Amino acid sequence: MLNEKALVVFSGGQDSTTCLFWAKREFKEVMALSFRYGQKHVKEVEYAHAIAEKAGIEHHVMDIPLIGTLGRNSLTDPTMEMDENKPVTSCPNTFVPGRNLFFLSIASVFANEQGIKHIVTGVSETDYSGYPDCRDAFIKSLNVTLNLGLETQVILHTPLMWLDKAETWALADELGVFDLVRNETLTCYNGIPGEGCGHCPACQLRREGLEKYLEIRNKK
Ligand code: ZN
Repeated sequence: MLNEKALVVFSGGQDSTTCLFWAKREFKEVMALSFRYGQKHVKEVEYAHAIAEKAGIEHHVMDIPLIGTLGRNSLTDPTMEMDENKPVTSCPNTFVPGRNLFFLSIASVFANEQGIKHIVTGVSETDYSGYPDCRDAFIKSLNVTLNLGLETQVILHTPLMWLDKAETWALADELGVFDLVRNETLTCYNGIPGEGCGHCPACQLRREGLEKYLEIRNKK
């Protein structure tokens, strides 16, 4: 794939930043696309921009505030309190309904216009937050749908799909961006970069993975 171009759906968080550098290794040319969809932690787009600039990657930002208002969720609704513990039966209220469906559809149309057929997304089924649109079956199904709908051959790449959070940290380390991911990304739903607020679901997942990886790393 070294002679081809890729578009990374890029939020500026741990996962998509790791994907950005993975794509830089795997493809000849990389472009990044971020969305402002009404998220309370919209600062993530500024972090995304700074990282893309550092990586020498062309960065596009699109405004799609509609996504945040379509389905009720605590990432875009300022009056709603965030679920901090994983519910047992249903997905948490931090799930933005349709987010990856729209993001990947928009990214595919955009990529197609640019003559790019590889799309990279940081979704993972292993250590995920209970979001149905992070699962492999959804991505594979959407890939088929996109190609039917656009009459094209877009390929959705999910390098983190089967990695847990500790393995995602290991991948960042292997790519030489462990410190950058640790200090300069914004994963926290409360908009605090690096280690974050520590208690939102995104911070909890990130920290557990980091602690597990550091234990393995220190033994080496
Ligand atoms: Zn947080």
